[in-house]
Amino acid sequence: MSYDVITIGAGPAGYVAAIRCAQLGLKTACIDDWRDRDGLPVPGGTCLNAGCIPSKALLESSELYEKLHRSGHYHGIAVSGAELDVPAMMESKDAIVRDLTTGIATLFKANGVEWIAGRGQLQPDCQVKVTPHNGETTVIKAEHVILAPGSMPVEIDAAPLHEDIIVDSSGALAWDSVPERLGIIGAGVIGLELGSVWRRLGADVTLLEAQDVFLALADKQIARTGLRLFKQQGLDIRLGALVKSTQVTDGVVTLEYQDADGTHSLEFDRLIVAVGRRPCTDGLASEEAELLLDEGGFVHVDEDCSTNLPGVYAIGDAVRGPMLAHKGSEEGIAVAERIAGQTAEVNYDAIASVIYTQPEIAWVGKTEEALRGSGTEFTSGLFPFAASGRARAMQETEGMVKVLSDTASDRILGVHIIGAHASELIAQAVIAMEFGGSSEDIARTVFAHPTLSEALHEAALDVGGRAIHVARTRR
Ligand code: FAD
Ligand code: NAD
Repeated sequence: MSYDVITIGAGPAGYVAAIRCAQLGLKTACIDDWRDRDGLPVPGGTCLNAGCIPSKALLESSELYEKLHRSGHYHGIAVSGAELDVPAMMESKDAIVRDLTTGIATLFKANGVEWIAGRGQLQPDCQVKVTPHNGETTVIKAEHVILAPGSMPVEIDAAPLHEDIIVDSSGALAWDSVPERLGIIGAGVIGLELGSVWRRLGADVTLLEAQDVFLALADKQIARTGLRLFKQQGLDIRLGALVKSTQVTDGVVTLEYQDADGTHSLEFDRLIVAVGRRPCTDGLASEEAELLLDEGGFVHVDEDCSTNLPGVYAIGDAVRGPMLAHKGSEEGIAVAERIAGQTAEVNYDAIASVIYTQPEIAWVGKTEEALRGSGTEFTSGLFPFAASGRARAMQETEGMVKVLSDTASDRILGVHIIGAHASELIAQAVIAMEFGGSSEDIARTVFAHPTLSEALHEAALDVGGRAIHVARTRR
């Protein structure tokens, strides 16, 4: 069989690339080896099946549960009889995932993408060996191949996975009861999101983070605020904690870790290992194909996602850059359009990062620390949600918006938010940066009142020292 394009992987990078290729009139096949719990093939990759979507479904459900319990205190609504049904919550999450993966299969059909369930391996000259879930191995060929095999959790010797007791993120998205004592190795994005889910549902959660700094990639002030708020909520976050060993005895995990004060021992009913992800590139290409990999096993690509092999591209988690669904999807679209002879690019400077805790953390562009490090002169503007009428009405007053702009040109270099709906608010900053906007552009824009978005407006005004709803003490 011969195609214009074959994509290996049907996660948000590969399936979006395949659909865009088909839209552009290219005969396209998409190979993916994911199977659901019943062994049936499903598209969507990590994002839909074991990542973005199931985690956000559980974050939403658990937040609603917690709000029901808090609402009497905050909003004067007394709720009685609210009961937790974890299996039903999991079924609701699974139904959301099922709807979305079915949707992708429908989109494949509607666009004429041939979906092949099985494992793909790149061979020389844009050939792909397909080992289907059912049936015989075949070799198919294309003019172009897009590699989008995604990533998998990193495992550590100190905490090997054990049944449903020591698990990775996939395991922790499928428990049907709330552990009393939950340990999490790694206080990164997954640790915080899944730690929040299970804490809201009643677990005692301890996070052990090897680094001394909390959320090293985030703006320091935002990370400091997050650490304070998460600790207040009851997450026991221990920094500089290096896990040495774990042992499971009679269903209980005994964990030893070391920090500046010495060695400590803790007991947990369940443990999540969330120490990062690595690219799924083992066996992705045969040796004869001579696909070049970088250190860490990432597929080597240039800024256009071209590999060292003519006609072969790679996108998503398996290549350099942040491991984010939207980054992979945009790379998929850009590669498809390049294959079709169009000009396309991805602006890696304007990719938002979001942590879906409560409050949420979101940012785009450079942090203050990075700007200082590069010697860039910048001006910052800050607005606390405590001074926002809408945040007050919602009783979600924690957090702030920070705008960083180039002192000489006023061009926005970074926006950092911690607060309610930060994941939605950050899109406004992304658009402003994509258009090369200045803090003055946002400051001169009329925002609806009362909205959380006004906090971005005020932070932009504050860059010029003219925020209205907060007394300025810093200048
Ligand atoms: P994947 O989604 O991993 O898809 C790759 C697919 O290729 C898989 O189906 C895999 O089985 C298949 N495959 C691999 N090798 C082969 C082969 N040789 N042959 C056939 N098929 C193959 N990102 C966000 O942006 N927002 C979030 O909120 C978010 N939440 C997350 C929560 C969790 C718990 C996790 C684990 C991740 C989360 N992520 C989130 C990250 C996001 O899931 C990834 O960045 C995204 O899925 C990467 O897309 P991808 O297409 O590159 O790879
Ligand atoms: P991460 O890099 O965000 O966090 C891993 C944390 O584990 C780091 O803080 C690291 O210092 C720590 N760590 C590493 N080794 C350790 C050890 N031995 N002991 C203790 N701590 C250790 O990775 P993650 O949370 O596993 O997430 C993986 C990827 O998935 C991320 O790159 C992220 O982009 C993506 N993801 C994104 C979202 C989102 O966009 N909201 C959500 C979940 C996952």
